[in-house]
Amino acid sequence: MLFSEIPQELDALAGAVEAELQGVFARFDRVAEVCTRRVMAAFQEFRVSEACFAGTTGYGYNDLGRDTLDKIYARVFGAESALVRLGFVNGTHAIATALFAVCRPGDTLLSVTGLPYDTLRQTIGIAGDGDGSLKYYGVDYAQVELLPDGGPDLTAIRKAAADPKVRAVAIQRSRGYALRRALGVADIAQIVETVRKVNPAANILVDNCYGEFTEPQEPTEAGADLVAGSLIKNPGGGLAPTGGYIAGRADLVERAANRMTAVGIGGECGSTLGHNRLLYQGFFMAPHIVAQALKTAAFCAGLMARLGLRSSPAPTDPRYDIIQMIEFGSAEKLLAFCRGIQRGSPVDSFVTPVPWAMPGYEDEVVMAAGAFVQGSSIELSCDGPLREPYLGFMQGGLTYESGKLGVLLAAAEILKAK
Ligand SMILES: *Cc1c(COP(=O)(O)O)cnc(C)c1O
Repeated sequence: MLFSEIPQELDALAGAVEAELQGVFARFDRVAEVCTRRVMAAFQEFRVSEACFAGTTGYGYNDLGRDTLDKIYARVFGAESALVRLGFVNGTHAIATALFAVCRPGDTLLSVTGLPYDTLRQTIGIAGDGDGSLKYYGVDYAQVELLPDGGPDLTAIRKAAADPKVRAVAIQRSRGYALRRALGVADIAQIVETVRKVNPAANILVDNCYGEFTEPQEPTEAGADLVAGSLIKNPGGGLAPTGGYIAGRADLVERAANRMTAVGIGGECGSTLGHNRLLYQGFFMAPHIVAQALKTAAFCAGLMARLGLRSSPAPTDPRYDIIQMIEFGSAEKLLAFCRGIQRGSPVDSFVTPVPWAMPGYEDEVVMAAGAFVQGSSIELSCDGPLREPYLGFMQGGLTYESGKLGVLLAAAEILKAK
């Protein structure tokens, strides 16, 4: 039985952790409230009605729900335009599409947050055989590392971005699978200001995965030209069945739409097959769901600290993404934690996660997830590449109550593995 698997000592620790985090939880609730107001205002401004949920088939011309949702995303992100599509197969697809939209042959793409997320390296052409990558199409790549404290290195960025060949600057908001912190919108604003001063023509793109609704503002409001992300993370609110989005400057969003479908077709086609309601309802839920995930992450950090495990962010640190990194130090503890998270899932609770060679990743990865939507990481999940120092990255939790249960079961597995 589920409940008898949680030792009493852990229940007592959990109570202490929650007491310590009351103020932190209240902060998350306030962000959710501000973001909810923004989403609600956009729903009302664009007169969302049942007609938006009907959807289309075939070419998908005049899909009222799809076109209205584009406007809602644009408004909430403070952007001119947006492209919200079920046809994006994941976040990588949306971000890759956005990357191709901001670069032309002969340009240099400059990443200012170190090495980009694993799955984007082949798109850029710095991993894999490069065929069909940005590099293959004549786009060079350069990189500025983050400072040791995880902040942007503005001096190095100023120098690198001054190269007139740099036409696109890429920023990753979330920590991804790296030992770094997430960037706040205030950090991103500083990067934008620095780049604009030396290279006003550069297009600035933010990989926004896991960052949406963790703060009252989005990077587009801090001056980024484009943001892109996944609908099976934050903005899908756990309900979107698949998809991705791009938002930002109208000309760049249009170029991205042409890249996504075909030049001249752009965003005009793409039937929604009756799934629009889930995208709307998910976006409506998203600020609240993100707060649930943030609470789960902070709780996890607090509990792990009491078990003597280092994690980042620390329990009371500000959070700019929903990811909780835990340093396990051994494959056994990482695998034990993942077993517990799996055990605490509403779906597939009976399976045991094992490491595998996931497409697009360079090391074997262990993934624990028992999600209603396959691979959805706004639902409680944990993954970690099997390499030193055995970091686990936990994220999601559609409800704090279930997220907490998963974390407690994971802690119980760690105690057993000791
Ligand atoms: C999840 C994620 C992506 C895209 O990953 P998909 O699995 O393709 O959705 C890109 N960048 C970051 C930082 C991410 O967290």
